Amino acid sequence: MIIHKNFIGGNICVVKQNERDVYVENELRDTQENWFYWAFCVEGAQGKTVTFHFQDDRLGYFGPAVSYDLDTWEWLGTCGKNEFTYTFGAKETKVYFAHSMLYQPKRFLSFAEANGLTVQTFCQSKKGRSVPYITFGNGHRSVILTARHHACESTGNYVMEGVLTELLNNPIPDTKILCVPFMDYDGVVDGDQGKSRAPHDYNRDYAENAKSIYPETAKMREYVKEHGCHYGFDFHSPWHIGQQNDKAFIVQNSLEKLDKLNAFGELLESVITEKAFQYRHADDYPFQTGWNKGGATTFASYVAKRLENEVAFTLETAYFGQEDNRVSQERLLELGKCFAQALRKYIQEKESKFFR
Ligand SMILES: [Zn+2]
Repeated sequence: MIIHKNFIGGNICVVKQNERDVYVENELRDTQENWFYWAFCVEGAQGKTVTFHFQDDRLGYFGPAVSYDLDTWEWLGTCGKNEFTYTFGAKETKVYFAHSMLYQPKRFLSFAEANGLTVQTFCQSKKGRSVPYITFGNGHRSVILTARHHACESTGNYVMEGVLTELLNNPIPDTKILCVPFMDYDGVVDGDQGKSRAPHDYNRDYAENAKSIYPETAKMREYVKEHGCHYGFDFHSPWHIGQQNDKAFIVQNSLEKLDKLNAFGELLESVITEKAFQYRHADDYPFQTGWNKGGATTFASYVAKRLENEVAFTLETAYFGQEDNRVSQERLLELGKCFAQALRKYIQEKESKFFR
């Protein structure tokens, strides 16, 4: 039995193992606080029953996410406290386990290809990788969609893919879309936590009075200066588990724009379908409470301050959800489709008021 991290997003350290029990720890790397992301592959364990032991706060309500191809993910369904047990079938020569449902760059490339979109290079990452982006639509209105400012936060990519699907099927007139799905691309590929990197992470790299230290965020600033940003949405995952972390919620980032943030939240709730991962406006995180203090140098607050900006925010979507509202790939995609419908309605309502 071989346990390894030799794939995109891999992150694990095997502390000790025998044929029945494996003790693992995740790698924090340059993350400055205790964080929870891990992902590993087990090969050659067919026919065995193995218990994997973790540190605290590494497993969700439904056990690990399990995949055979890094593309389709299901919850194992059960786990103990800080451990799960898996019986490898006779033909299960290779099984992937992860904290949550990974979203691989190759999935985005396939999505783009299937929709006739050309994936272009946004910039070269610090480690010299070509950072992918897509753009489509034309017009005066600039909409920017981003995810993975924090490398491990994969639920945001599924929601984003749903948004793109809806916007491609039912375009919003007079609108240019920029989508950069993996802002911390090196972190996504290398399997980093990405959150709270030293000296600061990608979503704290938009300070007004300082230059960006990462190529992706520097390039984003250039794009925003050239094209503006009327609507900016940054798709994240929250902390590991519990309370609001089990839900989808908008991080409200302004008192001046509170009416707009509330209006968007109400619209989003009004279009949520039964098939979607559920969202309630009442779960939105109020500005200047808890961890949501002003002054964070995030992408959303950076673009929200611009004169042409109507509304911009971070949408946080849980890793696991709750018993009656579980995360699945399909339900996250559907949430994204609803999100795009809410955006269309928001624009229609705003413009109808404007021309009244
Ligand atoms: Zn985040």
